[in-house]
Amino acid sequence: DHKGHQLYAIKGLPPNLTHIPPGCSFHPRCPLARDICHTDEPPLYQVSDTRGSACHFWRECLDDLGH
Ligand code: SF4
Repeated sequence: DHKGHQLYAIKGLPPNLTHIPPGCSFHPRCPLARDICHTDEPPLYQVSDTRGSACHFWRECLDDLGH
């Protein structure tokens, strides 16, 4: 939806694939991580007919982006 804009990337490096963190694998680097992110792997939530999101807080993120 943001063609021509720079793609946001979180800081840090991807985890070692032999030691993937529990919960959401992004939680050590995600600025939005909360307690549930450390323990529960997010399912793939259906966001629209053509999109899914594996983030517990996808709805809030979309709201923050003004969608
Ligand atoms: S579930 Fe979403 S908010 Fe939580 S760590 Fe993963 S990407 Fe970040």
